[in-house]
Amino acid sequence: MPTGTFAVATSKTMQLSDITAQVQQAVSASNIAEGVCHVYNPHTTAGLTINEGADPAVQTDILAAMQKIVPMNHPYQHLEGNSPAHVMASLVGSSITVFIENGKLQLGTWQKIFFCEFDGPRSRKVVWRIA
Ligand code: ZN
Repeated sequence: MPTGTFAVATSKTMQLSDITAQVQQAVSASNIAEGVCHVYNPHTTAGLTINEGADPAVQTDILAAMQKIVPMNHPYQHLEGNSPAHVMASLVGSSITVFIENGKLQLGTWQKIFFCEFDGPRSRKVVWRIA
């Protein structure tokens, strides 16, 4: 089964990075026309999501809403001080799966795959497997 990784360098504390092109590149290089692409994030303060990529305001809104949902000033017990990022990572989840048809990711018209940074900037990696 084709498996690999690619790097994602984040530049902000919180950001959504469009990784659709890197995932499609992995699919294309695998020469698998029909199948499933699994993408996994091995970090505890980042996640993966699929959402609208056409209007960048959607990314801004998602991050703003996350900051409303997850309190920054809660009496967290984790001493590293980044508990909000851990909670956000669990809310979005650590993996996504997309079907492959004719060698192409079967995303919806407006969908993109986003790496969700919640405790950056950092050097991150993403793991993929095509089956
Ligand atoms: Zn931590």
